[in-house]
Amino acid sequence: MEIYLDANATTPVLPQARAAALSAMAEAFGNPSSIHGSGLRARAVLDEARATARRVLGASTGRLLFTSGATEGIQTAVLSALTALRRRRDTGESLPPQLLYGATEHKAVPEALKHWNALLGLHLKVVAIPVGLDGRHDLDWLREQAPQAGLVCTMAANNETGVISDLDGIAEALRGSPALWLVDGVQALGKLALDLDRRPIDYAPFSGHKLYAPKGIGMLYVRDGAPFTPLIAGGGQEGALRSGTENMAGIAALGAVLKALESGEVFASTQALAERRDRLADALRDAFPGVVFNAPFELSLPTTLNVSVPGLSAKLLLDLFDAAGLRVSGGSACGASRAQPSYVLEAMGLPAWRTAAAVRLSFGAADAEATIAEACRRLRACGESLRASCQIPSADEAPRHADRFTRFVVDGACCYVVADEASRRAVVVDPLPELTERLTQWMRCRGIALVAVLDTHSHGDHASSAPVLRAAARDLLAAEAQDERVDGLGWPVDREFIALGTLRLTRLATPGHTEDSTAYLLHEVLREAYGADALLAAFVGDTVMPGALGRSDFAQSAPLAYGPSLKTLARQVGVGATLLPGHDYDDRYATTLAIESRAQPLLDGVLQGRLSAEAFAAEKAELERDLPPTEYQTMACGARVECSRAVERVEMSASELRGVLRGAVAPVLVDVREDYEVRLSPTGELAPESVPLSTLLNAMPRWAALAAEVPVIFFCRSGNRSAQAAKALRRFGHAQAWSLEGGLALWDAEKIAVPAEGLAFAI
Ligand code: PLP
Repeated sequence: MEIYLDANATTPVLPQARAAALSAMAEAFGNPSSIHGSGLRARAVLDEARATARRVLGASTGRLLFTSGATEGIQTAVLSALTALRRRRDTGESLPPQLLYGATEHKAVPEALKHWNALLGLHLKVVAIPVGLDGRHDLDWLREQAPQAGLVCTMAANNETGVISDLDGIAEALRGSPALWLVDGVQALGKLALDLDRRPIDYAPFSGHKLYAPKGIGMLYVRDGAPFTPLIAGGGQEGALRSGTENMAGIAALGAVLKALESGEVFASTQALAERRDRLADALRDAFPGVVFNAPFELSLPTTLNVSVPGLSAKLLLDLFDAAGLRVSGGSACGASRAQPSYVLEAMGLPAWRTAAAVRLSFGAADAEATIAEACRRLRACGESLRASCQIPSADEAPRHADRFTRFVVDGACCYVVADEASRRAVVVDPLPELTERLTQWMRCRGIALVAVLDTHSHGDHASSAPVLRAAARDLLAAEAQDERVDGLGWPVDREFIALGTLRLTRLATPGHTEDSTAYLLHEVLREAYGADALLAAFVGDTVMPGALGRSDFAQSAPLAYGPSLKTLARQVGVGATLLPGHDYDDRYATTLAIESRAQPLLDGVLQGRLSAEAFAAEKAELERDLPPTEYQTMACGARVECSRAVERVEMSASELRGVLRGAVAPVLVDVREDYEVRLSPTGELAPESVPLSTLLNAMPRWAALAAEVPVIFFCRSGNRSAQAAKALRRFGHAQAWSLEGGLALWDAEKIAVPAEGLAFAI
């Protein structure tokens, strides 16, 4: 069963509302403008819904029209206010020069302001009202600016944080101002008394689907005397304020919700809701030590919790919650490789990690007690799962499995941990400041000693965090690393190689991207058994990246040495060796010189001997001529040559998979979800291999060596990560690499039957 905790995005439809909508479609289906019996019955439903809304909103006067939702209500209000301003300007009056909106307003408000301001040719300044750390408007600023404002827009409660605006304070700050006042009441409806009769609010839009009515119905309150211009003209419905035959199913449903609200029987009281929030907050504190709440409870709707957890990204938390069947939303939009910080939390001035890692839990006032209790249980289970998979500290000291390669990515920059399970020793390559806590936790939980922290080069875009990591992991340092002298890249002075059990790390100077660029070569020592060591992978930093060569126009670059370095690398590791890059902007994981040579003519030219060191440097300089300077976390560190990749379809539908399962060649099924997700929602009878995306590198060579006809089918929650894995494996030469379309969500929905005899695995 899923637990829906995303009520600020939308809500399910209340049973009473469903019944009312059905009745409006089946029985009272008439057109409320018709004057026969069927029409009159529909009209009665319409009138009753409006009368109930007036009581709930405390709006005995003014106009109250039904709209398609809040976005339409906002447009209508903004158009009305701005049209009035334009009329004044047309009669020669001078206008207040600005339009104000709260910095944390829903995008519909500033976008509508900008749109109508431009379309009506007003060209007034559109200015955000700053908010404080508590998310509330800066009333002193507003008091000062309001005399020069034509329209002021402030929401009653915020959708991301639940912060409740001080409407009386705003009213006071606006006293004497010529501005019209719009209050977005969407998140407040049913949770706060808006008392529209009492407040000098000119416009207030509302939305049905945030309060258990269906999508496509909303309301707009317009104060008596406030200017009005219809957004939709036509048959004159809604007193000609909003033409078009009314959405009667929606209106009937909204009416039923408002009735239920009035009755006090369906919706929990504010106090009961606050108690539920406290229970959820306690569960969050138990599950995630250090969790921070991004809005003060005493100023927020009791149904919204916006949280950040130190060291845990929003993406991680969303995957985790989803695996537990908890539907929540990111307080910030997560891109493929980069989390977009929340503009609401940014406006409040919260630190960057909190604005990027925020997650919102919002429940509905009509949710059952049992739902909250189950949500609390699952939140605690999420914490347990993270502890069991070493993501957060645990009292349980049992040493956990350590993969040989684990990759961490921050905005396209890659950091690797190379560990040897038997000797429990590890090296970190290219640490990133954002990862210090996670890396330390990773090693501590597994009982791993840290032997060295290496950088592949002195980074152009950030200072190395190696000293910080060494300090944070002081108690984890291997004996020999305690007081060892290391060079600028962290390599122990005078050491020829670093040993991790049967693994051996050596270094190879590859100047070019920077003077000090160094590749680290990881071998398995097999000399005694086979006469030679096996090269497992080379950490090449930015010297060779998937789709790019590192740029060579930094002050610390050595462009003339770059070509020769690439040749040295090819000679030392071979063109088929696995290269692990310092940046991976497109989630390609690993590459080889052979793969990159096919895509990068410059690389091919130098390796084939067509380009001299000088010619290579000159052509590369040409490529980098218009490259903007590197900004940490935004700019590619490489001179990219392959900007657009052909769209490649790796998805396999559930029914195609069914066909494959019946076929002659048994597929390899791989679950790429992280350990903490699998623990919360195991795949049961499917029993796939479990190779989390962060450890994909360990299995790639094994899959690439499978017989060409063996399908390798990856799956994850939604199909996103599995598609990355499938593309990466195809690049490594295995054409039969696929991703289950729609992920486990669709798999479960389709209830795909697994053959009774089970699945034979090809490896
Ligand atoms: N205003 C706020 C505060 C909201 O939360 C939303 C919905 O997300 C809207 C406006 C837009 O509402 P609708 O979906 O009804 O257009």
